[in-house]
Amino acid sequence: MPSYVITEKCDGCKGQDKTACMYACPNDLMMLDKETMKATNLDASACWECLCCVKACPQQAMDLRGYADFVPLGGSVVPLRGSDSIMWTVKFRNGMTKRFKFPIRTTEEGSAVPDGGYPITTDIDDVELSTEPASALDHPVWTFKK
Ligand code: SF4
Ligand code: SF4
Repeated sequence: MPSYVITEKCDGCKGQDKTACMYACPNDLMMLDKETMKATNLDASACWECLCCVKACPQQAMDLRGYADFVPLGGSVVPLRGSDSIMWTVKFRNGMTKRFKFPIRTTEEGSAVPDGGYPITTDIDDVELSTEPASALDHPVWTFKK
């Protein structure tokens, strides 16, 4: 089910050129209407429901209509992302609410090294990932037997 904007909550990220939802969407679907200062999902049929916009919105103004087996009618699952963790608020149909908080980083914000600092392979015929074999040797559990 595609994402949608709760217009009452959206403040247009205060009119920035690129809003948080626009920045987060890997499919470039979010657009800000500068007249109304409300964001919108331009093509619901192209939304792959990744939740990036929902997690990124600082106003909690984005949501997804969850699939019935995951979020039955009357229930809701809402993420709230912090700088080092994410909190999921799950509301059940009987009114019960549970919150689950998980860490989302192992490094300080802004300190992650691209590609983990491993040398990059540019050989497109290589069957290994671009940072392998060095990264696989550091994490042997990820290594597949050939
Ligand atoms: Fe509105 Fe949230 Fe998008 Fe900002 S990130 S423009 S508040 S929906
Ligand atoms: Fe884009 Fe993902 Fe949000 Fe859909 S759920 S609009 S693909 S960020």
